[in-house]
Order: sequence, then C-alpha cells, then structure tokens
Amino acid sequence: MVEEIESNKQNPHFTPNVSHKYASALVNIKGLGVKTFSYLIPEEMKDKIQIGQAILVPFGRQGLINAFCVGFSDYLPGDFKVKKINKILDETPLFSIDYLKLLEWVANYYCCDLVTVLNAAIPLKLIEKAAKTEFAVEFVTFDNATKRQREVLELLKEMGKTPLIIFEKMAKTTRATIKKLEELGCIKLTQEELYRNPLDILKITEREPLFELSGEQKTVYDGISKTIKNNSSAQILLHGVTASGKTEVYFKLIDDTIKAGKNVLFLAPEIALASQLTKRLAKKFGTEDVAIWHSSISDGERYDVWQKLYKNEIKILAGARSAVFAPLKNIGLIIIDEEHEGAYKQTTPTPRYDARVVARKLAEFHNCPLLLGSATPDVSTYYRALNSGNLFELKHRYNNAKVPPVSVINMQDYGRAAYKNVISKPLQTEISETLEKGQQVILLINRRGFATFTQCQACGHVIECPNCAIPMIWHAKDGYLKCHYCNHISYFPDFCPECGSDAFKISGTGTQKIEQYIKDLFPDKNVERIDSDILVRKGEHIRLLERFQKGDIDILVGTQMIAKGLDNPNVTLVGVISADASFNLPDFRASERGFQLLTQVAGRAGRGEFAGKVLFQTYNPDFYALESAKSQNYSEFFQTEIAAREEFDYPPFSQIIRLIISSLNNFRAEKSAQEIALRLCTMIEKFGISERLEVLGPTPCVIERINSQYRFQILIKNKLGDKGHQFVSSFLSKVIMPKDIKLSIDVDPLDIL
Ligand code: ADP
Ligand code: ZN
Ligand code: ZN
Repeated sequence: MVEEIESNKQNPHFTPNVSHKYASALVNIKGLGVKTFSYLIPEEMKDKIQIGQAILVPFGRQGLINAFCVGFSDYLPGDFKVKKINKILDETPLFSIDYLKLLEWVANYYCCDLVTVLNAAIPLKLIEKAAKTEFAVEFVTFDNATKRQREVLELLKEMGKTPLIIFEKMAKTTRATIKKLEELGCIKLTQEELYRNPLDILKITEREPLFELSGEQKTVYDGISKTIKNNSSAQILLHGVTASGKTEVYFKLIDDTIKAGKNVLFLAPEIALASQLTKRLAKKFGTEDVAIWHSSISDGERYDVWQKLYKNEIKILAGARSAVFAPLKNIGLIIIDEEHEGAYKQTTPTPRYDARVVARKLAEFHNCPLLLGSATPDVSTYYRALNSGNLFELKHRYNNAKVPPVSVINMQDYGRAAYKNVISKPLQTEISETLEKGQQVILLINRRGFATFTQCQACGHVIECPNCAIPMIWHAKDGYLKCHYCNHISYFPDFCPECGSDAFKISGTGTQKIEQYIKDLFPDKNVERIDSDILVRKGEHIRLLERFQKGDIDILVGTQMIAKGLDNPNVTLVGVISADASFNLPDFRASERGFQLLTQVAGRAGRGEFAGKVLFQTYNPDFYALESAKSQNYSEFFQTEIAAREEFDYPPFSQIIRLIISSLNNFRAEKSAQEIALRLCTMIEKFGISERLEVLGPTPCVIERINSQYRFQILIKNKLGDKGHQFVSSFLSKVIMPKDIKLSIDVDPLDIL
C-alpha cells in the first residue's frame, strides 16, 4: 500500500545529494495541522530540488496539495512505499538552508521538534500559497462625478495606481462607492500582482532628517560604533533611563548599517509599540525600505513581505517577537528595544521561544552585532554586558527633564491608621491635594503578589525557604508552610526570627475591593479600575485609557497593566498600594520584576509641565530592591540581585528548564512526575553530570490546579549550555506519556508559578 509517512523528526539532511531518495515535505492538513511527510524524489527532479522550494505533493483524498521541501534522507522509518513529488512549483526557494539550521537550533534549545518550530516560523499562508493577485484601482476621469466623488477621485489621481484595499482605507470610502465610480467610468479596476505594504497607508512623502545627538548620546553612539568596529558580532546593552533618547541612538546606528549596504532587524515587545516604531522609522528612512511584521498583519501582507525579504528588497524590518523568524537577508544589525519585557517570550502555544534568545543565535549566524536597550534591563543581559565590557549608559533624560522623586511610606507606622489598612494618611492627603489642583492620579495595585505569604507586621520579614530563598507558601488545609521549589516544610512560626514579634499576617486584598475603598474615600470623584478582569470585555481597556487621557477619570486604579506606556502629562501623582507584593512571590525573578514594575510606574508621573510625585506604601521599606527602586539606582539593585542569583545558581548562572506534568487525576499526575524525575536523575547519574544538570522536584506548582488539571513541576538547572538542552531533549523524546497525562516543557520560563 502506498501511504503518507511522517518524516523522521530528528536530523534531516539539508543539502541535497543525488543519492538521496526522499524529501521531507512540510504540509498543512485540515485537522492534522502542520506536519512533515516523506515523498520519493523522481529521477528528473534530483538535480533541481532544493530546501525552501514550494512543491506539489499528493495527499490522501485531498489530491494534490502545496508543500515545502524541508529536508532529505536516504531511508524511511520503516518498510513503506511512498508517493512521488508531483512538481516543483517554484525553483526559487522561499527560505534558505541557514534559515532551517537556525530553526533546528531553536528546536534543540526549546527541547521540541523541528516541525513545531517550523509551524511557528513559517506563515500558514505561505504553505497554502496565498493567491497574490489583487484588485488595483486607477484614476481615469472626473467626468460625471458628483462633488463628494470628486474628492475621492482627486486623492486617487494623486496616489496613482493603488491596491484597492489600501485605497479604500485611505479615502475612507466603501466598496459600493468604488463600484459606482467604476460604472461611471471614472476609475479602472484591474486584477494583478501587487506588493501589499501596510505602510503605504501612512502616506509619508517627505523624509525627516535624523536629530543631532546630544553630548551624552554622542558619547554612547561613538562607543557603540567603536565596539562594533572591533568586534562585528558584539552583543551590546544600551541602558538608558526613560526618555533619554535611546531611539535616536538606534537611528544613527541604523543609518550607518544601511549606508554600509546591510539590513536591520528591529524588535519591539508589543504590536502597538512595533507600529509606533515603524511609523518613526518610515519617516526617517522612507516607506520603500521599511516593512513591519507581527502576528496581526494580514495573510496577504505577510506573504508579500516575506517575498520581498527573500528578494532582499527590505532594508529595515520592524516587528514584534515573531519578526525574529522573518527571512530578512544580509542582516548587519539587530536591535531589541525594551529588552526586559516578558512579551518577547511566547508562552502558548509551543514552541515557548524567547525572541531575544533566537536573536542572539541569529546574530551569530549573520556575524552581526546585537544591540539591546532598556531602562530596567534583564539581570542576565546586564550581567553579560558588564562582563564583556559592552555596557553603555544614558543617565539623563533628553533636555535634562526631571525624573519624579519617590517617597516610601512605612505601613508599619500607618497600618492601623490607614483607611481599611489600605490607604495611609499621607497618601490620602496627597491624593486630595492633587485632585484639588485638577490633576490626575494613578494608583497601582500590585497583584502579582499572592495572599498566602507570611509576613511579620513588625519588621516586614517574610518567611523564606532555607534552600531556595523564595517565600514559603501557607497551606491552610495542612497547617504548614511549604516551599514550592523543593518541598521543604516548616510550621507557622511562633515568633519572628528577625525581631521576635508574634505579629504574623497572611494577607492580600483584591483589586475590586481596593477600588471600592477608594470610591468610598473620594465619593464625588471619578474612579475607574483596569485589570485583567476588565480586559475580558474587549476594547474596554482602551476606552478607559482614552477617557483617562481626556481627563474624564480622576483616579485610575489598576494592576501592572497601567505601569507602562501611559503618557498623560496631567498625571502628577503615582501611588503604589502594596509596593512589596511582587517581591514576595515564590519565584526567583520576583525582586527583578518588582524593581522593574516600580521603576516603570514611577516614570508615569510628571511627564508634562507639572512636577510629579511618587509614593510607595510598604511593610518592608528596607528591602534592597525597593530601596533601589526608590533611588532609581539600577546598578545598586543589580549588585545585590546578582550575588543572590550566584549563590543559588539561578540564571544567568544556570538555565532553567521546567517540566510541567498535569492530569485531571492528582495522584496519577504526581506519580508520573515522580517517575520522570527518577528516570531523569538516574540517567544524569549514569553520565556523571549531576553537578551540572541539577534536578529539583517534582513539587506541586504554586498554582496547583488550572482548568481542573493538577499540576506538578520538575525544575532542571542546566549548567551545560546547549549540551544540557540536547541531553534533556533526547531524554524526553523517549518518554511516552499515557493519554490522560500531559507533559509540557518550558525553557527559561517567565515564572515558575
Ligand atoms: P527613549 O527611547 O530613551 O525612551 P526617545 O528616543 O523616545 O527616548 O526620546 C524621548 C524624546 O526626546 C523623544 O520625543 C525624542 O524625539 C526626543 N529626543 C531625544 N533625543 C533627541 C535629540 N538628540 N534631538 C532632538 N530630540 C530628541
Ligand atoms: Zn519581625
Ligand atoms: Zn525550597
């Protein structure tokens, strides 16, 4: 019987060889998803077929379907007879062997198979081969047109031949009007191959010159240029406070790169930011050379940009994380802005890749520099930059605008006097005074914190695990404190080990409750809340932000969502209700996250003509990350943080590979997790690498159950680099999970909750 055979997932060959009998074809099948299957290469195709070519293959009852050639082999996984490739659709490949090699590296790093990565990297529409013909519209005459129609026609005349969809958006007109105009003979519609550039809609005609750099910016720019000259593949960090003009420095470097005949990849953490950035780039460098790439551009646009990239017709590609997989050629510089942002990591679906990790490898492949920028860099990035001497800093805002001063309110002094234990007197007073002046207030409720940590009300001490240096979680049901990394158990302390007080508190308050308290305190003011509950109602979040921007809302209460991006010059007070909440999460990145959050939210105050103020309420004013956030001193924060990371072998001193084993059946999930951990440990011992590949757990996840699934985790601290990933990957490929148990793998997880 002739059938479709799934290709061997490990190690396909990338270079064709006349002896190769079979090709691996990447297909997208309804119901099956993206997969690779083996096909026989007909004799006459042997000297033509290449990686990245679009091919036509027979598939079951569906007849002939489109596919991509992604590998070659001499053998099949068993004794099968396979079908033949029908045709090479296009001799020019759409991706290269190097491109596939990069994806293969990614698959190894994230302990998943190549097909999973291919699926994330190559747009489905490419596989199905999107029809690229589209309607274009062209001006013919003004005769017979009404006044309103004339306006539309004038625009069209000026624009020349334009893709119909783009013209409709530009002219804010409808398909009915277009039809009418065609009937009148005023315009001509043609169907043809047109390049769809989403930037055309910006209609930028004149280019702006680059700004002259300020003294500090110039020094940094010179330093970076020199570093790149000495080491073409340097990985550089630009640490600059918000509004210091990092973007202007990037632009100068982009200009240099383009002038040297190379291309630039520029990543931003979110689609909205990528779009803003693209506009800025298009203004400086022209729409022709700039393209945008993210998950929300249309399939047609994606298809077109891909082809342009492959033909080396784009000089600057800006985009969100998925742009790291776009096939930009001849890269001379990769820039990652706001590099500390969690959004660079894909959490679902698999592969759970981090665009920053992929970009590091991509830079290696192109032997080009990688430039990361942030006001609050990732601790690992900062560590690497410091050690390689590739750290550059912008310490002042452009034009020397002031960063607002921060005061810390010790809730130990105010706790009882505070309204409902939530809003201290000084914060209440500040809010009243700000509102009296007609200015606006942001109140951050730090909900990353859980209600279950145990804190001394007298000195702020939080009970931590002696092995892992993370807060212990209170298990009311069992009556003990437990570490969710290593299972260490201890009983509820009678006295605080730091100060001897017995005033321990297990607490936490939800955002809704706090919103209500604030409404009670300021009954005649407009108070609104933004958090993930609100986000469920689509668009609500944007509407609230717009109302806040217009001044319709006096006090905006919210979670970390309100910490970034907001640029409202009338906001002069930022209050943080529970500044220490993030620090108490059972996660080794808690301090880093908390520091970043507080620094970013502080930056929302006093951006306009009025000076700003920031107040942090806390039970733990001496905590190092809070002190550093108060003084906005990154390097001080870093020194303490990196010492703790080193002591406990956390990143950057290891990489974390997290396995989650989940099932509806608690017992089966746990048993299965134990089995995997045991087998993994045995194998690690056998190879004598237990020093460099440390296994922790299994333990129940902090969030013990999601969607009725009981969750257990195994944490692997890898100090073997790529070899460690290979080891874990090959171990896992041999693990067969029963149907009712799910195993998921997360390399460099964002959190371990
Ligand atoms: P960052 O990226 O560090 O947050 P930006 O590059 O966005 O900062 O700069 C903040 C503001 O200052 C922007 O409006 C920018 O145009 C302006 N700016 C920065 N540097 C200069 C400069 N050298 N000349 C003129 N304007 C500048
Ligand atoms: Zn104490
Ligand atoms: Zn522990």
